[in-house]
Amino acid sequence: MTYFQVNKKCNGCLACLQNCPANAIDVKDSGTKRKLLHNMARCARCGNCWRVCPEQAIEFQHMLTNQWDEVVELDLIRCQVCEEPLYTSAFRETLAGKTGTSETPLCSRHKEALTLKFNAHFAGYKSGQTR
Ligand code: SF4
Ligand code: SF4
Repeated sequence: MTYFQVNKKCNGCLACLQNCPANAIDVKDSGTKRKLLHNMARCARCGNCWRVCPEQAIEFQHMLTNQWDEVVELDLIRCQVCEEPLYTSAFRETLAGKTGTSETPLCSRHKEALTLKFNAHFAGYKSGQTR
């Protein structure tokens, strides 16, 4: 979605460009065409362009839209016991590439429970050995 939107009422007068304090609006005249350009990285969302536009051509409301844009979707790995979200499979690959190991996906609670169980089992095995 483009946040800065200009509707069909625009007549290309350039009042918006001339009154933009951030140089966020530009114009490109090429052949028989005039194009208005907008740079969101420069824009301060001050609304000056909207105020000065004599044609009510700037749809400034889109600049004020309070919404979250989905930017990426990744595969999620959950705890094998309780299904608590842990990390993404891509992150797991990154870690595996750096450490050369790949752990069983368990949340800290279940990892701890498994360690305690393992330790108890190991202690029992050791005491059985000494008898
Ligand atoms: S001020 Fe309004 S009519 Fe003029 S160029 Fe800008 S958007 Fe178009
Ligand atoms: S909102 Fe302000 S900074 Fe952004 S384009 Fe309009 S006049 Fe320029």
